[in-house]
Amino acid sequence: MKTITILGSTGSVGRQVLDVISKYPNHYKVVGLSAYRNESLLREQVEKYNPTYYYFPSGGIEVQPSVFDLLEDKAYTKCTSSLEELASMPADIVVSAVSGIAGLWSAVKVLSRGGTLAIANKETIVCAGRHLKALEKKHGGKILPLDTEHSAIFNCLKGEEKKQVKSLILTASGGALRDMPIKQLAKVKADDALRHPVWKMGKKVTIDCATLFNKGLEVIEAMRLFEVDADKVDVVIHRQSIIHSLVEFSDNSMKGLLSAPDMRLAIDNALSYPTRGKEIIAPLSLKEIGTLTFSAPDYDRYPCLKLAIEAARAGEGACIALSAADEVLVEEFLKGKIKFTDIAQTLAKVLTKFRKIGNVELEDILSIDERARKYTYNVIGVK
Ligand code: MG
Repeated sequence: MKTITILGSTGSVGRQVLDVISKYPNHYKVVGLSAYRNESLLREQVEKYNPTYYYFPSGGIEVQPSVFDLLEDKAYTKCTSSLEELASMPADIVVSAVSGIAGLWSAVKVLSRGGTLAIANKETIVCAGRHLKALEKKHGGKILPLDTEHSAIFNCLKGEEKKQVKSLILTASGGALRDMPIKQLAKVKADDALRHPVWKMGKKVTIDCATLFNKGLEVIEAMRLFEVDADKVDVVIHRQSIIHSLVEFSDNSMKGLLSAPDMRLAIDNALSYPTRGKEIIAPLSLKEIGTLTFSAPDYDRYPCLKLAIEAARAGEGACIALSAADEVLVEEFLKGKIKFTDIAQTLAKVLTKFRKIGNVELEDILSIDERARKYTYNVIGVK
C-alpha cells in the first residue's frame, strides 16, 4: 500500500489523481490533501478519503477547526499550519498539483527529505528546476513528471543513454484559438480562450494553451527535468494530441508515446512507477483516427511561445520573470481587465527588463517573481 499526499486536490489535476486512486482501493491510501479556494470540495474529499492531514488557507488565515466540525468524529484528521508542513509529512508519494509558484517550497520540502515528488506544477519546475534536480540527486529522492508531454518523454527515455539523445520534441494541440484569424485575437474573450479543443484543464493552463505560452513553459520544464539545453528542445503542432511528445536519437530514429488524450495515463504512470499502471484510459484506435498531422508553430499567431523560448535561452532569471508576469496577465485577462493580445505585448516588455539576470539561487526566486509581478502591473496599469 503506497501512501499519497495531494497538494492541490480540488483542482483539475488533483481531482483526476483522486479518480485514478479510487480505481486502486487496495494499492493507495490518501494521507494528505490540500486546497487553496474550494473549501466545500476539500471537505467532501476529506470526508471521503479520511487523510491524516489536510491544509486549507483562508485569506492568509488558517481555517478554523470549527469549519471542519463535521469531521471531528472521524478524528485524527488534523489541519497543518502550512502547505510546506503538509509536504513534510510522511508519504510515499507527494503529488504537487498546485498552480503557480505557490508550489515552490512544498516541492523543495519533499525532495529535501529524499521523498518522491510527482509534479504537475510546471511554474515551480520552470523557476527552480535546476535546484529541484540537485536536491533529487543529493537526497536520493525522485521527481516524476505529471505533465503529459514530460511523462511521455520520461517514458521514451527509459533504457536509453543520455548521450544518444539528439533532441526532445514537444507536441502542441494549438489551443482553443488555433483556427481564429490572427487579426481577431485582440477581441477574444476569456470564454473563447477557455474552450480547449482536446484537453479539459484548469483555467490558467487553458489560457496558456491558447497563447501557447504553456508550450514555452514546457520547453523550459523539459530543459530542467531532462537537463538539456534550449536548442535540444523543439515544438511541433500536432492537432490530434495523440502523440504526446517524442525523443530523437543520434541515429535519427524517434520514439514517441501515443495514447488517447487523457492525463490520467501520466498520473497512473507516476503513481505506479516503476511498473506500468492499469487499464484506466480508453484504448487507442489508429484505424479510427486515420490521420496524424504535424506543422511548425507560427510565431505571428503564438508570440508568447517565441518569448518563452527566448527566456529559456536568456537564463533562469528571465524564465522566473516571464512565468510570474504570465500568472498576473492570465488572471487579469480572465477578469476582463486586459486584452488577449496584451499578454504577449506585456511579456515582451518583461523579457526586455529581466533578460540579463542569469542563474538564480533558490532563496532569490520569490523576490524576482515579486519584482516581475510589480513591473507587470505597472505596464498594464492595473492595481
Ligand atoms: Mg502539458
